[in-house]
Amino acid sequence: MVCPVCSSDSSQFYLRVKDFTVSTNYFELNRCSECAFIFTKDPPGKDAIGKYYKSNEYISHTDSSKGWMNKVYQLVRNFTILQKIQLLKKYTGLQSGNLLDYGCGTGAFLQHAQHTGWEVTGIEPDEIAMKRASDLTGKQIYAPHELAELPNTAFDVITLWHVLEHVHDLHATIEQFKRILKKHGILVIAVPNHFSWDAKYYQAYWAAYDVPRHLYHFDPVTIDILLSKHGFNRKAIKPMWFDSFYVALLSEKYKQGKSNPLVALFIGLVSNIQAIFQSGTCSSQIYIYKRDIN
Ligand SMILES: [Zn+2]
Repeated sequence: MVCPVCSSDSSQFYLRVKDFTVSTNYFELNRCSECAFIFTKDPPGKDAIGKYYKSNEYISHTDSSKGWMNKVYQLVRNFTILQKIQLLKKYTGLQSGNLLDYGCGTGAFLQHAQHTGWEVTGIEPDEIAMKRASDLTGKQIYAPHELAELPNTAFDVITLWHVLEHVHDLHATIEQFKRILKKHGILVIAVPNHFSWDAKYYQAYWAAYDVPRHLYHFDPVTIDILLSKHGFNRKAIKPMWFDSFYVALLSEKYKQGKSNPLVALFIGLVSNIQAIFQSGTCSSQIYIYKRDIN
């Protein structure tokens, strides 16, 4: 399998990881010999991966408030959504504008953005989530293949909140973003970071490997290589402090076979403290890109 970022056909075995949430199958991660990008080797294709999303635990697609973990997840989500909207304002210099959320899930972020004055568009592959997002925003939500039908230079912001690692047509999709983004628009990408302390601590149990749903395992170096191939320059990296705790909660469960919130809290904290002293090493990070246009 060639490297999804640089197309080199030379890569080495990196880690063997189990799908803990759905199939319990094992998948291998490979590391590209040229650009060091880490990717899931031979993942199910676009048409076959659907069944790996069929799980009650895949809570990003539901709004279930059952269980304390889901309750905390939703409280944190509402707080982080407000922070995300502040981020858009800061890096576009706009109070409102045209926003595309690619992989909008059930539409919570779109709804908040809409309430603060943004004109919103959503794209989502899951039909149930799509329907919920459409009900929340009163907007038609598009399927991923409809991205190519959106007009040129239409958006001030495109956001992908933990989505790019799921996208099969990586380069074609980024090219579409380039086409529909305004000249000074921003591309905002949040992804897990295997440079983090929690990734190194949990190794194959690190929940953010999430094979085979996560096709790619980014870090600050390789994501820049990918985006620079499409003419994007990084303007900022923002740590996502809450993700360390959430990923540690799941990872702890995978490793020990049961939840251990206190240990997870401790591991998340250690990871965050480490990331304060070494920038670019938070468990998940938001990358903000702009194009090289004067
Ligand atoms: Zn490569």
